[in-house]
Amino acid sequence: MCCPNVIEKVRQRISRRDLLKSTGAAAAGVLAAGCKTTAKAAPATEPVSFTRVVDLSHTLHPDFPAWFVPGEEKTFGTKTFLPPAIVEVERVFKYEEIKINLSKVSYWEHVGTHMDAPNHFSEGSSVEKIPAEDLVLPLAVIDIKARAARDPLALVTLEDVKAWESKHGRIPERACLAMNSGWAAHVNTPKFKSPNADGAHQQPAFHIDAIEFIMEERNVVSIAVDTFSFDNLHSPEYDVHNAWLGDERWGIEVVNNLDDVPAAGATVVVGQPKIQGGTGGPNRVMALV
Ligand SMILES: [Zn+2]
Repeated sequence: MCCPNVIEKVRQRISRRDLLKSTGAAAAGVLAAGCKTTAKAAPATEPVSFTRVVDLSHTLHPDFPAWFVPGEEKTFGTKTFLPPAIVEVERVFKYEEIKINLSKVSYWEHVGTHMDAPNHFSEGSSVEKIPAEDLVLPLAVIDIKARAARDPLALVTLEDVKAWESKHGRIPERACLAMNSGWAAHVNTPKFKSPNADGAHQQPAFHIDAIEFIMEERNVVSIAVDTFSFDNLHSPEYDVHNAWLGDERWGIEVVNNLDDVPAAGATVVVGQPKIQGGTGGPNRVMALV
């Protein structure tokens, strides 16, 4: 079933996007595809085989770069807050004392390699509601390193998605679509934030047109980026976060080691802690190659 608001959303997109050159027939096809995506097909049952595991997570530590600086007041809309430490590991039981180590760990949810759950930008699901079968997905990687090396605000565009498909075939059903901008290599350098003259962070991200395309015409469960955010200064109103998470979808930010996985053919496994009410949080992401 295609709900009216999906049809309307797709109609609006058809009318403003010239790349698809929407004839009546093409429009009908897009509408049908939009319905299919919304229905969210059953998990793929293809067997997965692999010869190596690539760790797509960074190690989280107190100096890990974040979109805030601990102890420096930050304002979002009407909310001003004092950001806490990135991560604190407090050893409560000590091996040298009682032959047991046990720590109390506190961290900010959206630091390190981490998930953005639907409820981070909507009233949608929190992390524990995401079905386990949605956390194991075919991985498709779009490489924009060359462009990102010249422009810290480079975007994964609709043309990039189509170019990927002309080389590797249609994005697999129920995929995780990742951006490899080369930013993971900058994680311990000032380049990771690339602040402009006003101090605003600059980093590669997704173009909203690419996101709308994969939402409506492909069956993509998750997106991933090797930078802080799915959005950059080209979408200051967080278009990608609002569209993607607002559609009961999730994604991973600050992914590592995408150079070590193929553009197509790997399987991603997202180890997201199942914390009731969580809006995301640091996770262990692995690629089976
Ligand atoms: Zn986040």
